[in-house]
Amino acid sequence: MSRKVLVIGEVREGELRNVTFEAITAAKTVSEGGEIVGLLLGSDNLEDMGKEMIYYGADRVVTVQDDQLKNYTSDAFGQAAMAVIEDEDPEGIVMGHTAIGKDLSPKLASKLETGLISDAINLEESGDNLVFTRPIYSGKAFEKKIITDGVIFATIRPNNIKPLERDESRSGDVTSKDVDIKDLRTVIQDIIRKTSDGVDLSEANVIVAGGRGVKSSEGFKPLEELAEVLGGAVGASRGAADAEYCDYSLQIGQTGKVVTPDLYIACGISGAIQHLAGMSNSKVIVAINKDPEANIFNVADYGIVGDLFEVVPKLTEEIKKI
Ligand code: FAD
Repeated sequence: MSRKVLVIGEVREGELRNVTFEAITAAKTVSEGGEIVGLLLGSDNLEDMGKEMIYYGADRVVTVQDDQLKNYTSDAFGQAAMAVIEDEDPEGIVMGHTAIGKDLSPKLASKLETGLISDAINLEESGDNLVFTRPIYSGKAFEKKIITDGVIFATIRPNNIKPLERDESRSGDVTSKDVDIKDLRTVIQDIIRKTSDGVDLSEANVIVAGGRGVKSSEGFKPLEELAEVLGGAVGASRGAADAEYCDYSLQIGQTGKVVTPDLYIACGISGAIQHLAGMSNSKVIVAINKDPEANIFNVADYGIVGDLFEVVPKLTEEIKKI
């Protein structure tokens, strides 16, 4: 049965995020050959981003461009997204399980009075059903879910589902829709950043993470150097953030960010279950710890027993030679 599926793209800081293309791939499975309609909400340059969505597999794209959509607020984005959903009446909706997706999707699902499968890491057809897989109990188990009624609405975990090949020969309409966004209860005046520029943790292919073993904020320096040569981002355990060695925005885990990079290098992190909840789905895990009994070695593909202050600079030096 083919379905019309709406993919809500993610525009952050004026850029279209990769998870948008991953959501299009997921939407292809949900649509079973039906139409894929992209939706972009933002304040400028949406037409070019719409074309990108088409190159990655959307059939056409609807944009809502408004100054009130410059920064995400659930109120403004909710109103704009609902206006398009009411017009399009899709049978499926897919978006990224990002900070925005986690906030917007339940709001939309409740307005549509439909269910929501959040944080899906896989979906496949099985007989007449579409089966979504999602982690539960902090990643210790996985559950498989099907939707039997209403709109098939899912958020997908970033970095799990491969985008389709970009194909510039694909064409489709990018149309804009005016929405009267009004009565906003929240308006963002200014965004004050605590962390420096660099690769976004949730989208990084490589993460070098530090734990209490780095011992100080200066202790993060060798990790930053390794991340730089690998084109990656720096992350942290809650142990490191609690000890004020780094900002909480770097925290990975149950109460921090959930990441799935191609390579995760854990330095001086013991591997508490709450930390594993945020990183154990990484494709390759390397652990550096001076305690051979550390739990992190149970999830690591490669383990180095040693002092991180010796091992990390050596790794950086060797990688620089490549
Ligand atoms: P530690 O457990 O102290 O480990 C430090 C490690 O560094 C040790 O294994 C040690 O052998 C090693 N080490 C020390 N010196 C060196 C050296 N020179 N070279 C190499 N290795 C060295 N934690 C998270 O990370 N993320 C979360 O989201 C999170 N959420 C939580 C939610 C709840 C409700 C609770 C109760 C806890 C949560 N925690 C979370 C905390 C978690 O339980 C651990 O306390 C925390 O992950 C420990 O951080 P750590 O591994 O950096 O520190």
